[in-house]
Amino acid sequence: MTKEEEIPDWVGAQEFYDTYEPKEILGRGVSSVVRRCVDKRTSQEYAVKIIDITPSDKMTSQEIEELRDSTVKEIDILKKVFGQENIIQLKDCYESKAFFFLVFDLMRKGELFDYLTEKVTLSFSFCVCYRKIMRALLEVVHFLHDQNIVHRDLKPENILLDDQTNIKLTDFGFAVQIQSGQKLKEVCGTPVYLAPEIIQCSMDSGNEGYGTAVDIWSAGVIMYTLLAGSPPFWHRKQMLMLRMILAGNYDFSSPEWDDRSDTVKDLISRMLVVDPRQRYTAIDALSHPFFSQYVVDEVRQFSPYRKFKVICMTVLASTRIYCNYRRAKPVTKEVIKSDPYALKPVRKLIDACAFKIYGHWVKKGQTQNRAALFENTPKAILLSIAAEADEPVHHIW
Ligand code: ADP
Ligand code: MG
Repeated sequence: MTKEEEIPDWVGAQEFYDTYEPKEILGRGVSSVVRRCVDKRTSQEYAVKIIDITPSDKMTSQEIEELRDSTVKEIDILKKVFGQENIIQLKDCYESKAFFFLVFDLMRKGELFDYLTEKVTLSFSFCVCYRKIMRALLEVVHFLHDQNIVHRDLKPENILLDDQTNIKLTDFGFAVQIQSGQKLKEVCGTPVYLAPEIIQCSMDSGNEGYGTAVDIWSAGVIMYTLLAGSPPFWHRKQMLMLRMILAGNYDFSSPEWDDRSDTVKDLISRMLVVDPRQRYTAIDALSHPFFSQYVVDEVRQFSPYRKFKVICMTVLASTRIYCNYRRAKPVTKEVIKSDPYALKPVRKLIDACAFKIYGHWVKKGQTQNRAALFENTPKAILLSIAAEADEPVHHIW
């Protein structure tokens, strides 16, 4: 058993172990391990996030103190947002000298990205699912912003799915509640999802700071990434990637975007606006035509006639699309040889095979490092910028 696999702090956290039986590891964060656990009295399953606050070679005592404070803040925010249907619920928490134990509902379907890739292959189901998930995400963001809470770490890894495939936003480790109009300056988050104004704060200490709009930017990056399979801003060298973010330098040119509507591209482009004052708010985004298209009225009564009509129209539409598709691009051996990725069915097959091999959906393009999509570099971005850059820091900006 490695040190990480050991069950931590048997003695100090007796109260936690009296109530719960810890099981296998479900996921890992920067300073936490999440395990499945079972309530001994009810046999109900939960997930426990175990945060290590013991001094070690990796962390100075000041960093430990900061981690302790931030965990107390995380618990405080989790209590404030308790009850929103798309936010993970904190059930219980314990603190010992060496660890925090935060008990949550167990999300058996895991992370959003993996679910969408593995289970949803039909493009119609994908569209319905995507729209539903994006609406829920923006509703959560609106709920948070309404209380002046900024999440600051929105990314697919922090969006989990419950048994009914509803999203649950998790990881409030960087979340903070601000006063109305107050600006933040702390540089934190995950590089790929960082809003330009956060990066600007790291370059210029006199910068006016940032607010809730940073979450909209990250939600825009998530929306783009889910549709394209790769993020809008990416470069192997983090420094160059951050420059792309600062300039808002992205496009919809990859072949995946040929299959997507102008409406969704319009929505994404209004969220990925460099100037936070010009950027959509959560309410603006929820009012965008993308969310009023093809509204499936869930509360409408079941009607066999309507259902039959929809089936007929679907069959006719798919036949038409199929015929057009055949006319436009006959799939011959030559086409498959010369540009297989341009053909949608082949593209889907390649993506599915890549997923099986790499165990993750996000494609590894020429300059991509898949793991980097999920790296957290809280408060250390400037250091890594300096380390990765070819030139000295003062030349770069
Ligand atoms: P960190 O703050 O260290 O990033 P997270 O709260 O994001 O920790 O949890 C890390 C990972 O653990 C998540 O990305 C997810 O894969 C898994 N996880 C977290 N909470 C749950 C849960 N309630 N149910 C299932 N898996 C979870
Ligand atoms: Mg996380």
